[in-house]
Amino acid sequence: MLRLVKPEVGMISPRTRERMVASLRAAGIDDDRVLAAMLALPRHLFVAEALASRAYEPVSLPIGWGQTISQPLMVARMLAALLATGPVQRVLEIGTGSGYQTALLANLGMEVFSIERVEGLHRAAAELLQRLAIPRIHLRLGDGSQGWADAAPFDAVVFTAAVPCALPPLFHQLRPGGCLLSPEADGREEQRLKLYRWDGQQAQEEDLGECRFVPLLPGTVSQKDRIGV
Ligand code: SAH
Repeated sequence: MLRLVKPEVGMISPRTRERMVASLRAAGIDDDRVLAAMLALPRHLFVAEALASRAYEPVSLPIGWGQTISQPLMVARMLAALLATGPVQRVLEIGTGSGYQTALLANLGMEVFSIERVEGLHRAAAELLQRLAIPRIHLRLGDGSQGWADAAPFDAVVFTAAVPCALPPLFHQLRPGGCLLSPEADGREEQRLKLYRWDGQQAQEEDLGECRFVPLLPGTVSQKDRIGV
């Protein structure tokens, strides 16, 4: 039998998830599709067992290799912003991390192409997502800043790490009418979440407010370079 809930976290009840979703609604997330997807997916499986009891708190948590799982409200904001642009069937995610947002995107009906630069995270996410039997997910180890040309065009591109504004955007991998969501660092302390709508020639920019993400980094990190938790 497939055992999804680890014994140590067996006491995390669906009520905990209901409370998280209630607090997301109170914080202004009103897309029922997003709230239902987050209610259904056990977030504690995407963090180390020692942190499982904190998985539903309104914080980001370490997932090893100096990276973090984004806090629930940030994930919800990104998903709601994406769905508000219209139907999204194929999405490119840059920064798989724990695979939590990847799973949500797939459970929202999208075909997800997700790239992660840290081998350990890529492998752990691949193993978990396979164990959860979530369909429509394609994972790749690599530097996502070049996108995934073979699988383009996408309806949407989502960065889950903060992009320096100097990075050439991946509009050319979007279909006309598609959108790109990216946290932008701009060399300052404050980051802004930006939504671009691409019409095939130009992008229209919308500022979705302040955000906080780990930086987008170049190259890849192999298993043997492991640091941290
Ligand atoms: N949505 C994820 C967020 C993880 S944090 C989650 O909730 O778990 C961002 C991730 O982006 C990290 O895992 C980091 O290793 C990855 N990342 C940073 N730069 C990258 C790049 N150039 N290409 C691919 N992944 C990158």
